[in-house]
Amino acid sequence: MGLLLGAIADDFTGATDLANTLVKGGMRTVQIIGVPEAGSAMPDADAIVVALKSRTAPVADAVAESLAALAWLQKAGVRQVIFKVCSTFDSTDAGNIGPVADALLSALGAPFAPVCPAFPTNGRTVYQGHLFVGAALLNESGMENHPLTPMKDANLVRVMGRQSGGTVGLVPFVTVEAGADATRRAFMGLRERGTRYGIVDAVSDQHLMALGEAAANLPLLVGGSGIAMGLPANFRRDGSLAHGAGADDLPLPAGHAAVVAGSCSRATLAQIGLARDAVPTLELDPLAEPDAAALAARALAWAESRLGAAPIVIAASAMPEKVAALQGKLGRDAAGMLVEHALANIAEGLVARGVRRLVIAGGETSGAVVQRLGVTRLRIGAEIDPGVPWTLAEGQGTPLLLALKSGNFGGRDFFLKAFAMLEPAS
Ligand code: ADP
Repeated sequence: MGLLLGAIADDFTGATDLANTLVKGGMRTVQIIGVPEAGSAMPDADAIVVALKSRTAPVADAVAESLAALAWLQKAGVRQVIFKVCSTFDSTDAGNIGPVADALLSALGAPFAPVCPAFPTNGRTVYQGHLFVGAALLNESGMENHPLTPMKDANLVRVMGRQSGGTVGLVPFVTVEAGADATRRAFMGLRERGTRYGIVDAVSDQHLMALGEAAANLPLLVGGSGIAMGLPANFRRDGSLAHGAGADDLPLPAGHAAVVAGSCSRATLAQIGLARDAVPTLELDPLAEPDAAALAARALAWAESRLGAAPIVIAASAMPEKVAALQGKLGRDAAGMLVEHALANIAEGLVARGVRRLVIAGGETSGAVVQRLGVTRLRIGAEIDPGVPWTLAEGQGTPLLLALKSGNFGGRDFFLKAFAMLEPAS
């Protein structure tokens, strides 16, 4: 029925988070990595999320990339646009949220956008315009010490005001609590007074649903993934979105199964520990062999006779002492690069040997592997654990299922659960 919703996300995992929310709402969603090339084929989907790396880029670059993504989405015919930012509103007084939002509004010829990073399920709520992380105000949550985007003010009306060329108002709790009609009237009131942004209070999913319904006819929304929760229902209400069953269906390519892990987060280490007892598991020792090509050759030789329908696990992941030892030997950046390079080689080798179901553990590791495999489009499938869906790499030669898990996500049984989900129910 044609494309309905387009999103521009300021980072990769944020894009997947939003895409996952849309799929759960019944919209078939494709994530595109980087600004799509002009003239590239349009995916068959209800929603497209363009994943940029613009959160901490220079302002002018973030604006230019976001506008290029918008131009592509407009050409694709989207009816509404989300600018997806972090649920902790990661930015500085220079940007990039304000300047990018200003540029998108201007390009869309729109005077007003609601702004709301709330994600109550993860403890991010907005009350009287103040962003909370759990029980703490944003500026007392640890985010005030973030190395790149220290958040020293929890009042989003002020934060957005400093970043934007326009004025910023508040749609307070009492209004959102009263429901979608009251919220819509508040949007109209702000717009008539010439206010460019309305920070919207939301402390529950019900508030996000009211926000979404009230925003049905607005060209742009700015927020975290929660801001999308109420949008699929709008399209369903006006008849442009079919009932959502099957939005997460993916074709199931036949082939071998594998996990490649580079995350040293506690959750990933526990997941490897559990998998070790159940499936063939190889733990690499980059300290003993600090050579990416040699590590990859050893891993692929080990994998050769073990590949099959049951997964194998290849991990560089190590406890903090071991990581510190490698960093001490090579330097922090070189240590990370060495391991990422080795794991990208291994992933590439596994795919060449017939792996078609691949779980990658680690945010940076996922980035390195996706880049090496030349993956630019991911169709989003069913959620394995909160925030981590199966995806289908589209557009290249061999169809490949990928699950990209940021380090701390997923329960202990994540690796086994991911592959078990793909088996036909017996
Ligand atoms: P997470 O999502 O848990 O932060 P990432 O993949 O983003 O995981 O980051 C983990 C980093 O640690 C990567 O750069 C990876 O190459 C590096 N790494 C993995 N194993 C080791 C190791 N044994 N020694 C040193 N660095 C490692």
